[in-house]
Amino acid sequence: MNNNIDLGRGGMFGLGSDDVPAYTEGSNSVMCHSVERDALVVVDVQQDFANPVGSLYVKDAEQVIPVINMLTAEAMRRNVPTFFSRDWHPENTPHFDKWPVHCVAGTPGAGFANGLVVPQSANIVSKGLGLEVTDVDGYSAANGTLIDGSTLAEALRAASINSVTVVGLATDYCVKATAIDLANAGFYVTVVHEAIRAVNIQPNDGRDARRAMQDAGVSIVKILGGVFAPKQAPAPSESQAV
Ligand SMILES: [Zn+2]
Repeated sequence: MNNNIDLGRGGMFGLGSDDVPAYTEGSNSVMCHSVERDALVVVDVQQDFANPVGSLYVKDAEQVIPVINMLTAEAMRRNVPTFFSRDWHPENTPHFDKWPVHCVAGTPGAGFANGLVVPQSANIVSKGLGLEVTDVDGYSAANGTLIDGSTLAEALRAASINSVTVVGLATDYCVKATAIDLANAGFYVTVVHEAIRAVNIQPNDGRDARRAMQDAGVSIVKILGGVFAPKQAPAPSESQAV
C-alpha cells in the first residue's frame, strides 16, 4: 500500500517543493510543484447530516468528526487556513423537491455538528442560498460564498493557495462536487478517505463518487490505513462493496 500519510513527517499539509506525494492514488492532474500552499476545506459537517436525529442523516457521518478535528488541529498547528462550508438553504427551494427539508439557514439543523471543532479563525462558506444560477442545489462549496462575498475558489486564489484537502459530507454529493470543481479550477485536491461518508442512495454511490473524483485528478488518501488497517480496516461501510 502506498496511500498512507506519514503524519509524523509532514502530514496532510506542508509538502515540500519537490516532494511528489508518494501516497497519491489515481491522480492525473498536472501540478506546478513550485511552492505548495495548503488549505483545509471541511464540507457541510452539520447537524442535519451528521447527527443521527438530523433530517438528512448520513449513515455513520458522526465518525468523520474526530478525524476532521485531528486534521483541523494539524492545520492550526501549521498555520494552514481552514474553510468550513455549510448548506444554508432558504425555507423554499427546488432543492427540497429532491431532498427532505434540511439545513435551513439559521435553524439548529444547519448548525455545525456536535463535537466538530470550528476554529475562530475558520472561514465560513455558505452555499445553497438559493441565489445560484447554475447550481441551484448548491452541492459545490467552490461556489459558496464567504462573509465578504467572495467565492471559496476566489478566496483560495487570493490567498495564493494551490493545494486543498477536502473532507466532510457527503461523499456522493457535496464532497464530490467540491473536490471536482476545485480540481477543474486548477487546485491540487486531496480527499481523506476516513473523513468522508456517503449517502449511498444506491449502494455503490460512494465508490462511484470516489472514482469520479479520481478521474478528475483528485487524490484520495487513507491517513489511518497504514497504522490500523490490516486486521479490520475501519473504512467507510461503502467500501464493503468494492
Ligand atoms: Zn442541501
